[in-house]
Amino acid sequence: MSGSKLAIHGGTPVRSHYLPYGRQVIDEEDIQSVIKVLQSDFLTTGPAIEQFESEIASFTGAKYAVAFTSGTAALHGACYAAGIGAGHEVITTPMTFAASANCILYQGAKPVFADIDPLTYNLDPKRIKDKITEKTKAIIPVHFTGQPVELDEINKIAKEKNLVVIEDAAHALGAKYKNKSIGSIGDMTMFSFHPVKHITTGEGGIITTNNPMYYEKLLQFRSHGITRNPDLMTQNHGPWYYEMQFLGYNYRITDIQAALGISQLKKIDQFIDLRKKYAAMYNEAFQHTNTIQIPYQSSEGDSSWHLYIISLNLEQLRGSRKNVFEALLKENIGVNVHYIPVHLLPYYQELGYPQGICPKAEQLYNRMITLPLFHGMSEQDVYDVIRAVNKVLDYYSK
Ligand SMILES: *Cc1c(COP(=O)(O)O)cnc(C)c1O
Repeated sequence: MSGSKLAIHGGTPVRSHYLPYGRQVIDEEDIQSVIKVLQSDFLTTGPAIEQFESEIASFTGAKYAVAFTSGTAALHGACYAAGIGAGHEVITTPMTFAASANCILYQGAKPVFADIDPLTYNLDPKRIKDKITEKTKAIIPVHFTGQPVELDEINKIAKEKNLVVIEDAAHALGAKYKNKSIGSIGDMTMFSFHPVKHITTGEGGIITTNNPMYYEKLLQFRSHGITRNPDLMTQNHGPWYYEMQFLGYNYRITDIQAALGISQLKKIDQFIDLRKKYAAMYNEAFQHTNTIQIPYQSSEGDSSWHLYIISLNLEQLRGSRKNVFEALLKENIGVNVHYIPVHLLPYYQELGYPQGICPKAEQLYNRMITLPLFHGMSEQDVYDVIRAVNKVLDYYSK
């Protein structure tokens, strides 16, 4: 294919139809699982939710799990449970989806962005240390692309400084750090079930924790701050009685969604194996390509591969990231960029976060492209992506 005319210049695209960067796989078993709930007594607050929570807890090895309407709502709940409030600072990475920082703002606290390690793209523990003040209350590291952060180092810093660690593991269901499952290690861990993630409930998210106090707070926060647990109530007027003890939200997931999650979770090992296989195919194809950097993997972690990101060696190219990106789109490859650093989003710029505070993340942003990676891809799809990347980079290579 090399040397052939790019689709952006009127040539024939590598693919005749568009390949997205990620999407769900729903099978007949998933559909039947949802139908069963629709025909049952409970569409919400029913038994499917507890079952889903207990299955996620056992999959991750955590004691407790509390499901929410979204990963973002789950992060909000975790920030509440951690006691984050006005006057606090919370350290997170700029190389993430806005939700990892927005949840800090929801609680009236201040997000503080620490720069990434340019090798792993994960929050750099050394940079975390630089950002700690008397106001720091928590750290929200993100297991970016599915590759675990240096958890031992981060948890050690947190312990010394009495900080809560809330892991954003939206990318990392099924990932392992030093042979331990993500979700079983830290104070609280969030997983997302958005359709592009490892398993889906449509919208949905969950917090896993080993701490019974966080568990109780999360349950209550999810439902208006209301408890029906007699042990927690200050009065008791009778069997109808419930107590609203703080201002919570309605962040309850439905049984319809939980049923889909239960069914999807049965296939998680197979989904992750496919993602790993396709990532290995990309690595193999691109490891000697001098125009791109394949994603470095630390030996401490075992990624569950939510995203496959290449970094362009712009010095070797005649074109920009935008040129390469647009050319790949025209070849019908659904490339993406994960992410625009959060502090550069206009809302955060208005809050006063200047450009230049996280130079490593900003440099990466100018070079990165996400290639399609999901468990519903075929090997042929992977070969198409490889062919398109080679075709476009051959053209733009110096
Ligand atoms: C998807 C995602 C979230 C938010 O999850 P939702 O379920 O979409 O609310 C948070 N952080 C990261 C890194 C994500 O990728």
